[in-house]
Amino acid sequence: MILKGKTALVTGSTSGIGLGIALCLAKAGANVILNGFGDASAAIAQVAAHGTQVGHHPADVSDPQQIAAMIDYARDDFAGIDILINNAGIQHVDAVEDFPVEQWDAILAINLSSVFHASRLSLPGMRERGWGRIINIASVHGQVGSIGKAAYVAAKHGVIGLTKVIGLETATTQVTCNAICPGFVLTPLVQQQIDARIAKGVDAEQAQHELLAEKQPSLEFVTPSHLGELVLFLCSEAGNQVRGAAWNVDGGWLAH
Ligand code: NAD
Repeated sequence: MILKGKTALVTGSTSGIGLGIALCLAKAGANVILNGFGDASAAIAQVAAHGTQVGHHPADVSDPQQIAAMIDYARDDFAGIDILINNAGIQHVDAVEDFPVEQWDAILAINLSSVFHASRLSLPGMRERGWGRIINIASVHGQVGSIGKAAYVAAKHGVIGLTKVIGLETATTQVTCNAICPGFVLTPLVQQQIDARIAKGVDAEQAQHELLAEKQPSLEFVTPSHLGELVLFLCSEAGNQVRGAAWNVDGGWLAH
C-alpha cells in the first residue's frame, strides 16, 4: 500500500489503458478519480473493490474549462491531486492530404493540449504539498512516425517535448514528470485498426498477427497492467531520479 493517502487522477480511465492503470494505483492504496466517456459504473465498481475512495468526473478534456472544473472537484472532494496520469487519447488514420481538419483539431486538443492544461493546473498543489508525479501516456508514436497517423504522431511528439520541459522545471523538487511510450495494447483504440483489416477480408487472428508483425517484434500485445506496474515504479522512492524520461514498453518496436 505504498500510495495510501495519495490521490490519483487518471484521464480517460473508463476503459483500456487508463482503467488498467487506475486499478494498479488503487491496488497500491491510492484514492482514484476516474474520467472518461460512457457509463462509468463498471469502472468505478472495479476500482472501488480495492477499498480506496473512488470518484468520477465526466470532463471532456478537449475543453480547458472542463479540465479546470475537474481539478476543482479533486481539490474539494479529495484534497487535491498527488498523481496525475494524462492518458486520454483518440486516434484517426488518414493520409495528410485527406486528413479531416476537425480530426486534427480534436486529436491535438485531447492528446496534447489536455496534458498542458491538466499539468499546469495540478502543479501548484503538488509543489505546495511537496510531492507529486505527472505521468504522460505518450506512445512509440512520440518517437517515430507511421503512415496515416499525422495528428497522433505530432501530438505524441509534443507530449514527449512537454514532459521534458516539466521534468526540467520541477527538477529540484519532489515532483517528477515522465512519459510512458507503449507499443500496441489491445484496447478499443487498437481494435478499430484490427477491425479495419477484418473488413478487408482477413480473419480476426490473422488481422491481429499482421498488425503486430509489422511493428512489434515480440508479436505480443503490451497489457494495461504492464503499464500500471511501471506507473507504480515511477511513483515509488526508486523513481525519484527518473525525470523528463520517455520510457518505452513496446515489445521491441523502437529497437528497430
Ligand atoms: P481507449 O479508446 O480504450 O480509451 C480512451 C479513454 O479516453 C476512454 O476512457 C475514453 O472515454 C477517454 N476519452 C476519449 N476522449 C476523451 C475526451 N475528450 N475527454 C475525456 N476522456 C476522453 O484508448 P487506449 O488504447 O486505452 O488509449 C489510452 C492512451 O494510451 C491514449 O493516450 C493512447 O494514445 C495511448 N496509447 C495507446 C496504445 C494502444 O495500443 N492502445 C498505444 C500507445 C499509446
